[in-house]
Amino acid sequence: MPSEFALIDRYFKRPTRRTVLGVGDDGALIAPTPGQELAISTDLLVEGTHFLADADPEALGWKTLAVNLSDIAAMGGQPLWATLAAVLPAPTIDWIEAFARGFFDCANSYGVDLIGGDTTRGPRAFCVTILGEVPAGKALRRDGARAGDSIWVSGRPGHAALGLAHLQGRAALNEPALTTCLAALHRPIPRVALGLALRDIASAAIDVSDGLLADLGHILEQSRCAARLNIPGLPPAGLERDCWLSGGDDYELAFTAAASFDADIMALSGTLDLSLTRIGEIEAGPPGALILCDDGGAVITPTTRGYDHFA
Ligand code: ADP
Ligand code: MG
Repeated sequence: MPSEFALIDRYFKRPTRRTVLGVGDDGALIAPTPGQELAISTDLLVEGTHFLADADPEALGWKTLAVNLSDIAAMGGQPLWATLAAVLPAPTIDWIEAFARGFFDCANSYGVDLIGGDTTRGPRAFCVTILGEVPAGKALRRDGARAGDSIWVSGRPGHAALGLAHLQGRAALNEPALTTCLAALHRPIPRVALGLALRDIASAAIDVSDGLLADLGHILEQSRCAARLNIPGLPPAGLERDCWLSGGDDYELAFTAAASFDADIMALSGTLDLSLTRIGEIEAGPPGALILCDDGGAVITPTTRGYDHFA
C-alpha cells in the first residue's frame, strides 16, 4: 500500500489543459475567462446509498464525475475543473487504479481537469466539486419557465431505475434492453452538448437525478407555474411506467422553452443524435401543480413523484 502522497501522485495527478496550478500545492489556481460566470456544483456518492459495496470500480469512477458533469450540463455550462474528495477503506491498488481509470476516462471525454482534492481513510465515499463556465447571464436556471412554454426531456428516463430493478430481482429484462439499462445505471452519459446548445433556447432546465416528475416539480415550484403533461410513448401502468416517471439516477435533461423553438429543438435532436421528446406544456396555475394525461386525455395519477433521501 503506497503512502497517501504516493497514491495521490500516482493515481490522481495528471497533466492539465486549462489550469494554472493543479494537484500538489495547498490550493489550485485557475484563471476563469473574462465575461464568463462560474457554475459550481457538488455531489456526494456514498457506499450503500448511491452505489453497492461490490460496484465495479471503473464504472464507479466514471459515474462519480459524470453525475457532476450532468449538473453543469443542466446549467448550460462548459465543465472545466473538478476536485475529488475520496474516503477509502484501506483500498487495494487494483481498486483505486480502476476507479482512477474510469474517472479520467470521463474527465478526458469532456475536457475536465482534476485540480485537487482530499484523501482520507474511512467508509467509502466520494465527493466531487465541479466548476464550469457560462457566459454571464446565460445560465439555464430552474426559475425561468413561463406559461405557454413547451416541456422537453432528452433520451428516455427510467432506464437506470429499470436496470437497478433488474439487479434487485424486481424486474426481468431481456437483451437488448438489459444492456441499455445497465449502461444507463453504471455509465450515465452527461448531456453536456445539449446543455450548451440550449443556452439561447431553453427558459429553464434541470437534470433528472431524482425522477422526472420530482425534478420537473422543482422547475414548476421555482418558476411559480403549473404543467400539463402528455408523454408520447408512456408505457402502460406498471414498473416501467413508474421508472419513466419517478425513477432516479437518469441524468437526462428536462427543460422548458418557448413554443416558438419547437422546430429548432426537433432539429437539435438530429444534430446531437439524441432523442428529444416534447412531453407537455407550462400553464399558469398553482406553483408545482402537475397534471398528467394519457393519449386519450384521461388523467393519470402517478404512484410517487420520485426519490427523497429523507422521506
Ligand atoms: P493539505 O494537507 O494541504 O490539505 P493534502 O495533503 O490533502 O493537502 O493534498 C495534497 C495535494 O493533493 C493537494 O494539492 C490536494 O488538492 C491534492 N489531492 C489530495 N487528494 C486528492 C484526490 N483524491 N484527487 C486529486 N487531488 C488530490
Ligand atoms: Mg488535505
